[in-house]
Amino acid sequence: VFIAFEGGEGSGKSTQARLLAGWLEEHGRSVVLTREPGGTAVGQRLRDILLDPSTGDLSPRAEALVYIADKAEHVDHVVLPALADGRVVISDRYVDSTLAYQGAGRALRAGELEPIARWATSGLRPHLTVVLDIDPVVGLERAGAPDRIEREPLDFHRRVREHFLELAAADPGHYAVVAADQDPQEIHLAIQQAVAPWLVQ
Ligand code: C5P
Repeated sequence: VFIAFEGGEGSGKSTQARLLAGWLEEHGRSVVLTREPGGTAVGQRLRDILLDPSTGDLSPRAEALVYIADKAEHVDHVVLPALADGRVVISDRYVDSTLAYQGAGRALRAGELEPIARWATSGLRPHLTVVLDIDPVVGLERAGAPDRIEREPLDFHRRVREHFLELAAADPGHYAVVAADQDPQEIHLAIQQAVAPWLVQ
């Protein structure tokens, strides 16, 4: 089973991904908790380039391709092998982040970006994507020292949020949208409920 977490800055994705992994392990599942960008050794180096404020402005297409290179490495070396072993894979961000940040955020055309991202990930889609939804004003305040992307203006982050919600609305059977401005334990319970139907497979 492949589960992705998506959401804006300060939405608590990483905390919730960890809580879900712990819950699944308590129930006897073998879990791989991973992330994008940076789920592999090369990916970690790409992440450093992408997020270090000293990188400065990148051409939006170059930036998208670096994020997508990280994905190809991640899917081939982490996600697909783990799924082949029957493990549950939880990824903190996946293709939707690229569609939202590099697509809607940077105003690259989704129709151009999506096929490249699908090619890089061998068309692999999560069974379930959990979108942790938060107003970027609140989320950015919660997040710590801003990385290169968090320094983008509020409008950028608003477009990202809207795009996640649009993706979820277009395919409700494979998405759970959870309000991220609640108590973390409440959020965790909502996520357990969303994930449960996928575990019987
Ligand atoms: O999930 P996390 O907060 O660790 O993401 C690291 C940074 O990378 C964030 O600032 C996020 O907005 C950015 N990012 C991005 N495009 C992606 C994935 C992450 O701009 N496709």
